[in-house]
Amino acid sequence: MSSHAQPATAPADLLAVNDIEVIYDGAILALAGVSLRVPPGSIVALLGANGAGKSTTLKAISGLIHADRARISRGSVAFLGQDTAGVPPNRLARRGIVHVLEGRHVFAHLSIEDNLKSGGFLRGLGRRELERDLEKIYAWFPRLKTKRKVQAGLTSGGEQQMLAIGRALMTQPKLVLLDEPSMGLAPIIVQEIFDIVSRLNDEEKIGFLLAEQNINLALRHASYAYVLENGRVADEGFAHDLAAREDIRSFYLGGKAG
Ligand code: ATP
Repeated sequence: MSSHAQPATAPADLLAVNDIEVIYDGAILALAGVSLRVPPGSIVALLGANGAGKSTTLKAISGLIHADRARISRGSVAFLGQDTAGVPPNRLARRGIVHVLEGRHVFAHLSIEDNLKSGGFLRGLGRRELERDLEKIYAWFPRLKTKRKVQAGLTSGGEQQMLAIGRALMTQPKLVLLDEPSMGLAPIIVQEIFDIVSRLNDEEKIGFLLAEQNINLALRHASYAYVLENGRVADEGFAHDLAAREDIRSFYLGGKAG
């Protein structure tokens, strides 16, 4: 698909995933030759149905696949030109990759504010720096400020998703791996979250690799997208080209194209 391909790999890529294969439990092949790139400051979408391999791809990049007893058995991942093999997730987070897992993992018994602070601990911030960074997050997510003292487990799904993203931002990432942020949320909240993601990208130049089943939404906010099927990249292209393609629309939108 040369007309849809990105320019040839440049060393300046924020992220380059090169032909990776991932195996769970030493036996289950989940990814078979996935390659993708995230240029600096861009939003790239990873599309695909349930079980296509989106979460596995993100976990392979952040290093969290090891927690699921999986490993990269072939290929490589480079972040800012450096191979990440053998680098533990906390070190990758210090280098600038943060992973917002599917399902809004927050500390339910901690307040919104303490959850956010936990994101800053990685950087060993002093109290004043922490306060300054918290205010930045509250400027992005005013809803979190209103509820700063509320236990995270008592807030809405949308607020928990905002919190999960806000906590990730406290690590001052260069690249956010965002897994299914729209899942189970009302469209109006999803819109709000995606608008903030777009602004973060625009104003702070943070890169996003966004796994989504909602392709309409993802293609509206991403510049480039990869379509995964059965652990392989089945298609890729600029978001506006993919959004216009009848086959993609009808496959993922159940024939509601046009
Ligand atoms: P979803 O939207 O449901 O998360 P996905 O596109 O993110 O789907 P993955 O969760 O990455 O897909 O799953 C890809 C493949 O890896 C599937 O075949 C799945 O069965 C397998 N897989 C995922 N997690 C595990 C695990 N912990 N142990 C074994 N196999 C797994």
